[in-house]
Amino acid sequence: MMRGVYGASGFGREVMPLVRQQYKSEETSFVFIDDGITAKSVNGHDVLSYEDFLSHNDDDKSVVVAIADSQIRERIEQKCLNDGIQISFLQSETVLIGDECEIGAGFILCGFVQLTSNLVIGKSFHANIYSYVAHDCLIGDYVTFAPGVKCNGNVHIGDHAYIGTGAILKQGTPDKPLIIGPRAIVGMGAVVTKDVAADTVVVGNPARMLQAN
Ligand code: UDP
Repeated sequence: MMRGVYGASGFGREVMPLVRQQYKSEETSFVFIDDGITAKSVNGHDVLSYEDFLSHNDDDKSVVVAIADSQIRERIEQKCLNDGIQISFLQSETVLIGDECEIGAGFILCGFVQLTSNLVIGKSFHANIYSYVAHDCLIGDYVTFAPGVKCNGNVHIGDHAYIGTGAILKQGTPDKPLIIGPRAIVGMGAVVTKDVAADTVVVGNPARMLQAN
């Protein structure tokens, strides 16, 4: 069994201990896969190119894509799936998940993340340390939360949106959810009180549009 963490940079190095923890009962080797890093080893784990990982003679291989950039993440996942490599999910032992929380394949839930209740999240969601998603949220595919995101109830987030460290998303209502459009970027520490349009960047308190993407 070979478990690969795709990306040996910042996030990948943070994620590797979670992978070891999740699969500790298996007879497994843990490696990084990285196309841009020349080091042979990072934190005691071999770094393989994707080609070397593919050609390694272990027929039970899976990958966790630990790259925050959601467009790269989607491209790499597609490449792995096309090559018959399974994409795994990852969930720290300290994650709390309440009732009726639905989440798509390939997620990474880092330490102290909480999903409270009655929410739907698409595929390849990344929630970095200490983030939460509260009740009745609807989150698309390839959404990324940096550390400490506070996503309150009845918020809808479109595909490929990125929410920066410590941002606060005001709760919506069932009739009028707060909407963060697809591919929007919410800057770190922003306090989002109004809908954010697709492909825009908002910053500050209260959050205002910075520029079009
Ligand atoms: N990377 C890769 N293949 C790609 C794109 C990126 O192996 O097609 C690697 C890249 O070499 C880098 C890592 O993914 O080591 C991304 O690291 P970065 O510091 O940009 O982001 P983070 O670790 O915060 O997600």
